[in-house]
Amino acid sequence: MPNNPTPRTTTAGDYPFRFNSGACAACAGRCCRGAPGHVWVDPDELSRIATHLNQPVLTIRRDYARQVNGRWSLRERPLAADDFACIFFDLGRSRCTIYPVRPRQCATYPFWHRFRHDPRTAAAECPGVEIL
Ligand code: SF4
Repeated sequence: MPNNPTPRTTTAGDYPFRFNSGACAACAGRCCRGAPGHVWVDPDELSRIATHLNQPVLTIRRDYARQVNGRWSLRERPLAADDFACIFFDLGRSRCTIYPVRPRQCATYPFWHRFRHDPRTAAAECPGVEIL
């Protein structure tokens, strides 16, 4: 995720790539914007976001999330025809405004199951991916 305050290289299991978060500083947040999608959040994650922002969880659900087939996803802001940004993405500074409590989906990127055997797609999406 953009602007990790402590850039470092991480690996996960036997994924065929490593992640260099130092690349986030020069990235415009490609993992937080782009084609419309979902940033899934569970009730515990919504509660942590509410505590972090010092707001009632009902406010977080109403203003920053939406329900999709019974699950919660963070809202997106339309920027252009096929360019949307997560509601918590600060476009001016290219950073996540809830970084310490970002959802698990964000915290585990790019070590997602769909990239497990597809490091080239991961590298095409994320400049921090270094194929091993
Ligand atoms: S919650 Fe933060 S890290 Fe996750 S998509 Fe939104 S801006 Fe990016």
